[in-house]
Amino acid sequence: MKSHNGKTLLIRHGTLIDGSGRAAAVNDAIVIEGNRIRSVGRLPADVRIDDQDHVQVIDATDQWIMPGLIDGHCHLSFGFPQVANVPSARGTTNPGFSAIRAMRNAQQVLRSGVTSLAVPGGTWFIDVALRDAIMAGLCEGPRIACAGQFIITYGSIIDTEPSWVGTPEHSIGVLANNVDDMITEVRRQCKYGVDFIKRADSTWGDTQTIAPGELAAVVREAHRRQVRVTIHSRGAGSTRSAAEAGMDWILHADLATAVELEAVAKAGVRLMPTMTFLQHALEVGHEYGRGPRELDVIKRNWESGVRMLEQARALGITLMCGTDTGNSPLMPYGQLHAHEPEILVRYGGYTPMEAIVACTRNNAFAVGLENDVGVVEADRLADLIILKRDPLADIRVLQGGQHLAMVIKDGHIVTMNGQAEGEDTLAYASSLHA
Ligand SMILES: [Zn+2]
Repeated sequence: MKSHNGKTLLIRHGTLIDGSGRAAAVNDAIVIEGNRIRSVGRLPADVRIDDQDHVQVIDATDQWIMPGLIDGHCHLSFGFPQVANVPSARGTTNPGFSAIRAMRNAQQVLRSGVTSLAVPGGTWFIDVALRDAIMAGLCEGPRIACAGQFIITYGSIIDTEPSWVGTPEHSIGVLANNVDDMITEVRRQCKYGVDFIKRADSTWGDTQTIAPGELAAVVREAHRRQVRVTIHSRGAGSTRSAAEAGMDWILHADLATAVELEAVAKAGVRLMPTMTFLQHALEVGHEYGRGPRELDVIKRNWESGVRMLEQARALGITLMCGTDTGNSPLMPYGQLHAHEPEILVRYGGYTPMEAIVACTRNNAFAVGLENDVGVVEADRLADLIILKRDPLADIRVLQGGQHLAMVIKDGHIVTMNGQAEGEDTLAYASSLHA
């Protein structure tokens, strides 16, 4: 089976940073056939460079080759009508529009060098549909592993409507205030084909809104159905409870201290801090309706989060990278997916190589493809990026697609100029409702 244009793809020369943590090395030949990497290393004898009918050669001399980036926390289907002083507001009430917009969001993400996404929550089952449409080849986008609506309790994040409204169908959360309702919702979401369940505790971690027994019940039900579970958990107590309940990974953990992180390490649970959103909100939040009181809370969480990063590294907790792109209008698509590795290096004491591993090999876990993506080696899926500059010398080289020479997903070279420059889909969507 051949790949791009029916030809074998051959990437010659350049420097390979394979995502496993192995030192960067001179690349001779990466051979891609179909949607998989056939070999990495010496050029196989049966692949002839001059056979232009069957072999397409990509010369990566003076360039760097890496696994496609993975954003472990990106929302594609949130909707944001403009409501004064309500920064995240409610979703659009039109699932058709939201689905089409999510498709375009996914294209923007892919063109910035991100070939896989974990999507921890969205509206209706738009992300499930988009995942399947991309897999079926109906549209272009990264590989997607996704949850449905967040399963929340009164007082959790997203429970922002008055209680006589509850959580409307177009919300990104669904209320379940007892174990029976939680299990019913897990079953409903499994029926619709989610890859994992998203639970969500309080917005900034000040209170713990889900009881340990409720977490454990959901984990048992989901795991029995071979679906994994993650949680929005900024608080210390909720992070400890999530680890002890056997969650597959924990999002945020901003306020976790050494005690809770030791529980996370002991349970062998992975953390995905998602500091990019906090950093970006502190930088530009005031332009998007985030008031001074909220920004003070975000600053508190950021400062605690920096300590958490250092402690997690010292405890040997496996870290994954997410950004929360698409969670609100201040988090645009295609721009921030590789800011998390920079934060790990600048604030968390991680080496550039450790940060690269976090957003490639480690993140493959979040998309449920640990043996298929995240590392450039034989038999894995052919998701790669080629960069014009060295990300080990400056980790920011990964950001915003600005130094990309090429994106290859599933053995196909992604067309980079297929859309208008500079358009902001969220701003467009907002203007519709203004
Ligand atoms: Zn999120």
